[in-house]
Amino acid sequence: MTSSEYGPSDQRTYMIPGTEELGSAGPGAAGFSPMDNLEQVAQLVRSCTDCPLGRGRTNAVPGEGNPQAEVMFIGEGPGYQEDRQGRPFVGPAGNLLEGLLASIGSNRDDVFIANMVKCRPPDNRDPSPAEMAACTKYLDRQIELVNPKLIVTLGRFAFGRYFPGEGITKARGKLREKDGQKIFPVLHPAAVLRREELRPTMIEDFKAISEILEGGLEDTGIEPAVLAPKAPSDTDAALISFVNAPGQAAAPAAQAEPSTVNVEEAPRPEQLSLF
Ligand code: SF4
Ligand code: URA
Repeated sequence: MTSSEYGPSDQRTYMIPGTEELGSAGPGAAGFSPMDNLEQVAQLVRSCTDCPLGRGRTNAVPGEGNPQAEVMFIGEGPGYQEDRQGRPFVGPAGNLLEGLLASIGSNRDDVFIANMVKCRPPDNRDPSPAEMAACTKYLDRQIELVNPKLIVTLGRFAFGRYFPGEGITKARGKLREKDGQKIFPVLHPAAVLRREELRPTMIEDFKAISEILEGGLEDTGIEPAVLAPKAPSDTDAALISFVNAPGQAAAPAAQAEPSTVNVEEAPRPEQLSLF
């Protein structure tokens, strides 16, 4: 299977960047459907059959959020709940993402949330390179339209879009730049749910996101986790209660696994509800 396998029909169904003037001709005319705004992107996604994932979906999940968001999150692909509701990150991983956003004084209406693939892979399997390639035109356009200051990649697939071949375990928490776009890789929330010992790392990385947005981490390659500790604040108090979330406070040693765990090799969730 090659990554161009689902390629040819792409040209027919989306606006090639730089040819916007064709958009005024409207869908169907000259064989183009425009992606002039986020709603048009979403409409195309909902009727897309450019890869096999389109056949198995209940609802496509185009992505959503503030069209002028400063920060855009990119996940992997819809899970069970997302497929049912047609919205990104509305299951358990979404609850964690919302908690993390709240911990830095943000929420999902402030940001834009999208995925590498817009339709659910069966049994939550990994999206294939060909599926991601077929779907990337929508994400590309969403990024162009939102034009975020910062892209936060959630997990290894979104990270791999920018830095193929690198490992997320090493890369997470370090501000990067690719083609003039600031990229901040973090773990996938579902990985944190599977391995609670990763939660403090994830909270640290979200703290770094707000610092980056405040202009505090302009240089690339900084490891936020080793920045000088600050005096405790109200935010920290809120964070501490978030760290000790219900079900986690007791943190039994039995469930703790070695913190050297390689997230890339973490087992896939056994329960559908994890995604
Ligand atoms: Fe189209 Fe993307 Fe869905 Fe595949 S995953 S059918 S390319 S919207
Ligand atoms: N996991 C993802 O990567 N994306 C979602 O939208 C939900 C769970």
